Amino acid sequence: MITCNALATLHEAGLVLALNPAGGLAVSPASRITPELRIVIKANRDGLLAQLHHEASNDANVHEDDAIAAQRQTDLDRYCWPHSGAMSGQEIDTLVARLAQFTNKGLSLDDGERLADKLVIRDREGDDRRLCLECVHLQGAHRRRCAKALQADVAHEQLANELVSTLQRCCGFQATPAPCP
Ligand code: SF4
Repeated sequence: MITCNALATLHEAGLVLALNPAGGLAVSPASRITPELRIVIKANRDGLLAQLHHEASNDANVHEDDAIAAQRQTDLDRYCWPHSGAMSGQEIDTLVARLAQFTNKGLSLDDGERLADKLVIRDREGDDRRLCLECVHLQGAHRRRCAKALQADVAHEQLANELVSTLQRCCGFQATPAPCP
């Protein structure tokens, strides 16, 4: 069993502990291993090795869990769009992010949900129209204004709910970095 003091001593000395390819103990940099530290390492070698193997096995489990989750999602998506009308994991993630974006811009939850649902269909159909609510130039949540009003040929301030929620092609449109495709 390794003591906390031994680990702390080695870390404080600036030593990095790792497993070598053969599963043995590797301590670096060698230039920092004083005779005293060499004794600490030797006295705690078994504990240090056990600790490193334990950490390595935890890392492997985390990666395996990620891989399993990704595979499970891929399997689930086999039964979703475009193979059926059910939403894929990616579509659900995008919908949830859009809903947050729209409510942040002042839409009610109901209106935001309706609009986010509508955009799922838009994306599936390859419709190139966009909403002001997806545009970086739309500012404010209630007294909404367009920062590109001249170029876009719209009122500078107080853009109506109907306008910002309508699919359109606007020469001033610039997509927000996320979550809009
Ligand atoms: S630039 Fe166009 S799409 Fe963007 S907020 Fe202004 S009017 Fe809407």
